[in-house]
Amino acid sequence: MAVYDVLIVGGGPTGLSAATTTAKQGLSTILIEEHTKIGQPLACGEGISADKLFSLENMPKINSQTNDQILRLQQHESFIERVVNTQRFFFGSKGVATANIKTITINRPLFDQIMAKQAHNAGVELLLGTQVIAINPKNGRLEIKTTNGSYEANIAIGCDGPSAHTVRMMGLQPPTEYVQGVEYKIQGVHTDALDFYFDFNHFKKMHYGWSFPKKKHTNVGVVVEPASKPMKILNQFIKHLRYMDIKDEEIIQKIAGIIPASGPIPKRYSNNYMVAGDAAGLTNSIFYGGISIGIHSGMLAGQTAVEAHEIGKFDEQQMSEYQKNSQSYPYMDPIIQQAHEILYNKFSADDIETFGSWIDGWDITTLSMFQKLRLFLKSLISPSMLKKFSEARIIAHGFSKSRDWGF
Ligand SMILES: Cc1cc2nc3c(=O)[nH]c(=O)nc-3n(C[C@H](O)[C@H](O)[C@H](O)COP(=O)(O)OP(=O)(O)OC[C@H]3O[C@@H](n4cnc5c(N)ncnc54)[C@H](O)[C@@H]3O)c2cc1C
Repeated sequence: MAVYDVLIVGGGPTGLSAATTTAKQGLSTILIEEHTKIGQPLACGEGISADKLFSLENMPKINSQTNDQILRLQQHESFIERVVNTQRFFFGSKGVATANIKTITINRPLFDQIMAKQAHNAGVELLLGTQVIAINPKNGRLEIKTTNGSYEANIAIGCDGPSAHTVRMMGLQPPTEYVQGVEYKIQGVHTDALDFYFDFNHFKKMHYGWSFPKKKHTNVGVVVEPASKPMKILNQFIKHLRYMDIKDEEIIQKIAGIIPASGPIPKRYSNNYMVAGDAAGLTNSIFYGGISIGIHSGMLAGQTAVEAHEIGKFDEQQMSEYQKNSQSYPYMDPIIQQAHEILYNKFSADDIETFGSWIDGWDITTLSMFQKLRLFLKSLISPSMLKKFSEARIIAHGFSKSRDWGF
């Protein structure tokens, strides 16, 4: 039976980042992916913060172009489709606020494939078209059973996405809450900004809707509650976006997927095992993005695997270093989950309308003292709004903590 230092389950951004980290440090690394091609099929809005794209280790590199050159370009032949400087937030029908955070829309299949090439160049063995079906302890290692035979490894890193199969195989608690994401790729570029719609009046079961411009088409999608009809809501949302005037024949692709929404799972390690990315519940539970967080958490798990090999210890205590190391990063801040609870479970359509009307026309990249004071004075109008004001502050804080880590 083939024996490896590290075995990675899942060939998404998280697994590719973890694998590149361990292989670069000389550990024998195999990555097992159930699909026959990296980056296909997948569901993604394809928006990512420019800051994170260029600052994180293991993000795909682009030939000889420097990061500066790329940011100046609007279009070029790489996985980068558009550089977008403005985000617009539509709150109900009464308010539109903007923010200036540089964001990039990507060709996600190509993005994942470039990451796979980087992993391969670092020495990772990629085993595609193979599903991991069981993981069991064996002589101080793990035995990993797959549809193409069994493997042994000192450490397995579960990067198997929202289904979190390996988390269950290891007897850990998987994410408890999921939302559904559905999207149409629509011919033509309908907006220059990244648009986000929070509108509980027209769409009771929708958390938010988005419209992200790419080179030749626009990604329009919705995140909705689990027990709802996502396609019906998406079709209603498309009709609602009258300024786009979308015709059926302009829809070139439909995609759908689930996204963990309950925040990080409580325990992300066990003997010889760590779990990262979506499988660990590590998504941004306000915007539900997870590419950057996956790449970062995969890299941290990979680093822990490298340190474990330096001292030859693979027990639970050693693996727990991974969880300790990740605790200080902004995406782990509990304020994000609190903001998620208030925005999606407590705030009513009227609350959104009211706050939306208060910040209509504002640039909310950073609020000035004067703007904060104005909001506070407005909330004094009624005791119920005063209580909501402190909750709105939690949402604002959660927004600012999470927005750099993906949409
Ligand atoms: C509709 C939608 C829109 C989104 N939009 C954005 C966005 O705009 N920006 C953003 O940052 N994020 C977005 N996300 C979230 C983002 O796609 C995920 O957070 C990201 O893909 C997580 O990466 P991952 O590597 O952890 O998991 P995945 O990308 O899901 O990769 C996991 C891999 O594991 C493989 N696998 C699973 N089980 C097994 C097994 N037993 N054996 C072998 N292989 C296995 C799967 O085939 C898959 O390839 C969106 C998600 C959805 C559903």
